[in-house]
Amino acid sequence: MRGKYNLMRWLALAGLAALPALSGAAEVPNADRALEELQKGNARFAKGKMLQLRRDQARRDETAEGQHPLVTVLTCSDSRLPPEIVFDQGLGDVFTVRVAGNVADVDEIGTVEYGVGHLHTPLCVVLGHTACGAVTAVVKGAEVHGSIPALVDNIVPAVESARLEHPELSEDQLIPAAIEANVFQAIEDLFTHSEEVRQLVGEGKLRVLGAVYDIQSGKVRWLGVHPGQAALLSGGGKARGKAEPAHTTEHAEPAEPGHGGH
Ligand SMILES: [Zn+2]
Repeated sequence: MRGKYNLMRWLALAGLAALPALSGAAEVPNADRALEELQKGNARFAKGKMLQLRRDQARRDETAEGQHPLVTVLTCSDSRLPPEIVFDQGLGDVFTVRVAGNVADVDEIGTVEYGVGHLHTPLCVVLGHTACGAVTAVVKGAEVHGSIPALVDNIVPAVESARLEHPELSEDQLIPAAIEANVFQAIEDLFTHSEEVRQLVGEGKLRVLGAVYDIQSGKVRWLGVHPGQAALLSGGGKARGKAEPAHTTEHAEPAEPGHGGH
């Protein structure tokens, strides 16, 4: 296929021939490599220098045989942050779960498990974003109806945690802290309720990272692993249920009393 050949040649010239998504199913890209791809892609996007690769017929032909995405992303449904665009990735590169407030409830966790356990992505990113309406609604105690209360329930512990940690902040000032706490809350819920995720991370086959996308600058700020990851991995699973308020402060406090890891 000429188109594909030309693309490969162009990529080779650009020094990008080793992109994991183009190198075939045999190579499983590791988490470092996947993270690097996302960081480079987001830098291109923020500068307006997107390559927009792997969105052509050749890529559709290639991926029709099966998908081998490099990352599983759990992010918000907000129209301003489609992951393939903000990370400048192509078809078949990003296995995505999108839900208001990037919460990790039963269906989201099941979908993440499909991405990391069945499709074997070595990286899972929980991506929150600035000015998230779902988090803002919880911070401001907005009245919600229909099925939305059951959704925002997942965000409540994060807001409570941010409020406990920053009692000095006004409601508006609290929103960025709550957005960050909500990313870590989703990661905590993922670890707490998914034995498969805990196992894969424990075996070094998966890395779970938090990040926040800035809807104005277009830049992704990486938050790293959950600060309480070690404790979450050893903590064992809980029955799936709505997060209780006590759930909230777990990751804000030292994992084990007397286990001095400062
Ligand atoms: Zn949002």
